Amino acid sequence: MTQLVPVLSFAHQLLRQAVQPGDVAVDATMGNGHDTMVLAQCVGAGGKVYAFDVQEQALQKTRRRLQTAGLDEQVVLIGEGHQHMNRHVWKRLSAVVFNLGYLPGGNKALTTQRDTTLAAVTQGLGLLKPYGLLLLVIYPGHEAGRIEQEAIEVFVNGLDQQHFQVLRYQFTNQKNNPPYLLAIEKVSTS
Ligand code: SAM
Repeated sequence: MTQLVPVLSFAHQLLRQAVQPGDVAVDATMGNGHDTMVLAQCVGAGGKVYAFDVQEQALQKTRRRLQTAGLDEQVVLIGEGHQHMNRHVWKRLSAVVFNLGYLPGGNKALTTQRDTTLAAVTQGLGLLKPYGLLLLVIYPGHEAGRIEQEAIEVFVNGLDQQHFQVLRYQFTNQKNNPPYLLAIEKVSTS
C-alpha cells in the first residue's frame, strides 16, 4: 500500500537514507530533540551530530532524551544560534536539518528568524558533502514564519541547478497554512 506520510515523517525517512554510520550531521534547531535522536541513531557510535538551539530548555530536554536512549556520546549540544555553525563545525556533512518556528510548548516569541536562518542555511549548504541533504521544515502559519518562508523561497529558487536540486513535499489541500518540507540536495561541489 502506498501512503503519503506526514511532513516530519517524510523528513525522517530522507534523513535515514542520507545519513550512514560514521557520518557527521547537524540539527540546526534541536528543540525537543526528536530530529537530533534520528540523526544520532543514523550516525551511530562512530559518527557525530552537532545540535544547535538558543534555549536552555531545549538543551536540557534533548540531553535527557539522548541519555535515556544511550545516544548522548555521539552528540555535541551547542547552546548558540545556528548562524554560528561555522564556529563549531568543520567536517563535511551528510545532512543538515532545520525544523523552523518556535519550541512546541515553549515561548512562541523565541522563533527562528529570516536573517539568521538564511545565514545558517548558507553555511550548511557550504558544509554539505556531494549528495548530502539539507532539509527545511517551514511553518508559514504564523507571522515570523511567513516572513521567513518568503525569503527562503526566493533563496532556494535562486540556487544553481547544476549544484543543487530542490524538492518540495507539501500537502496542497490542507487548511491553515500547514508546514511543508524543502529538501535541498548538493549535486556538485564545483
Ligand atoms: N527539531 C525540534 C524537535 O525535534 O523537537 C523542533 C524545533 S522547534 C520547531 C524550533 C527551535 O528552534 C526552537 O527550539 C527554538 O529555540 C530554536 N531556535 C530559534 N532560533 C534559533 C537559532 N538562531 N539557532 C538555533 N535554534 C534556534
